[in-house]
Amino acid sequence: MRENHGLLSESVLNYPAFEIPIDKLFFPIVVDDRFFNSKVCEYCNTSFKCSNEYKYKSSQIVKTTIEKGQFGVKPKNFTDYTLVLSDITKDKPQGNHYLYKTIPGLKNKIFCSNECAYNYAIDKNAVITLLDMVNKAEVRLLVPQTKSMNEKIGNAYKYRGSYTGLKDLKVK
Ligand SMILES: [Zn+2]
Repeated sequence: MRENHGLLSESVLNYPAFEIPIDKLFFPIVVDDRFFNSKVCEYCNTSFKCSNEYKYKSSQIVKTTIEKGQFGVKPKNFTDYTLVLSDITKDKPQGNHYLYKTIPGLKNKIFCSNECAYNYAIDKNAVITLLDMVNKAEVRLLVPQTKSMNEKIGNAYKYRGSYTGLKDLKVK
């Protein structure tokens, strides 16, 4: 790996009109090609190069219940499920709880993008866990209802997985 000066040239940084603090700039990091492995996406069959082999894992959903709810009130019978998500926030206190029962265990998956992982979740009725390297390497979850949850919450990025706040995930 090289120094993270990336694509920003010395002359631009030294130009007096640019008064952006250096630590606030985004530096593209140039990584040597040999750190990447060639992989094939399990959804779209595209060949691509990636450095993080098991960023995605999948778990089969056997039961889904969508229940209307409100902020601060737990859904009914939630202990019967392995995963409970919701699109209810303090600002939008009315919405839905999404309750999932999944088969125990996670299988490693190769996807070229969050969009492919999400489409796979719809096709196979699965929960996909992903390691979001941009946001402090936290685990996020993609489910068949992710897109509608993001629309409700107002996330511009439709394939953003639900936040877990976890560094690693063990599914019952
Ligand atoms: Zn793909």
